[in-house]
Amino acid sequence: MNAQIIAVSNQKGGVGKTTTCINLGIGLAKAGKKVLLVDADPQASLTIGLGNPQPDRLPVTLTDLLKKILTDEPILPREGTMQHPEGVDLMPADIQLSGMEVSLVNAMSRETILRQYLNTVKYHYSHILIDCQPSLGMLTVNAIAAADRVLIPVQAEYLPAKGLEQLLSTVGKARRQINPGLKIDGILLTMVDTRTNFAKEISALLRDTYGSRIRVFDTEIPHSVRTKESSAEGKSIYAHDPGGKVAEAYQNLTKEVLKIEKQRAKGKAGISR
Ligand code: ADP
Ligand code: MG
Repeated sequence: MNAQIIAVSNQKGGVGKTTTCINLGIGLAKAGKKVLLVDADPQASLTIGLGNPQPDRLPVTLTDLLKKILTDEPILPREGTMQHPEGVDLMPADIQLSGMEVSLVNAMSRETILRQYLNTVKYHYSHILIDCQPSLGMLTVNAIAAADRVLIPVQAEYLPAKGLEQLLSTVGKARRQINPGLKIDGILLTMVDTRTNFAKEISALLRDTYGSRIRVFDTEIPHSVRTKESSAEGKSIYAHDPGGKVAEAYQNLTKEVLKIEKQRAKGKAGISR
């Protein structure tokens, strides 16, 4: 195996990045894939959302492994990865990761420290999803530099124009300077209140504005209080509310993501760049 690495990124907070990592990740595992979820956000919401309420008490986190890369220390096979009962592995984060971000600024090859770490685990997985922090700081740059693909959740309530352009320009820069093969899988609309016209307008506007350049996933993730409950329980939406509309949507997203892969393998991915 040689994992496809997908960075789930948007520098705006609260748009559904972490929720998408959990439910796309577990969706892929349910489809028979070997999945590692990497928490690259010092706030550790992914770690917490997968049932580890006190990340600062974990013996090993991404912080330790990135430190080892920086100091050239050996890493044991899959050192520090945790197993979630729903069939995914997790590389957790803790708040110390924010200090790492500072040390990265002065490091040699500072953009590729995370890539170097992932190179030590990628042969164990078919998919690695990176949950990015809500900024375009060094950790996010590292995630984008390490990724084969970027998936961009966008909350349906907010007009993303400016923030999205900044993210796209960071992706463009990464592609030109350090990661020429980087592709954008697409923009994912999240927290869509399907009852309102407003949500339909945002969806149409986004598709109008970006649809010719970037895929906007057909799947839209509906808003549901069940989603918040599921991460509070450390479970996916499939375990918390099977048969619910959000579970169904994340299942459809999983299918779309797998379809993009297949099309790319055949060289027919259309507008996905
Ligand atoms: P981010 O990682 O971009 O900050 P999160 O995935 O943590 O975003 O989502 C922000 C908040 O919104 C969380 O409390 C989460 O439980 C909630 N949330 C995410 N997706 C949905 C949804 N489809 N419906 C309702 N609440 C959601
Ligand atoms: Mg998050």
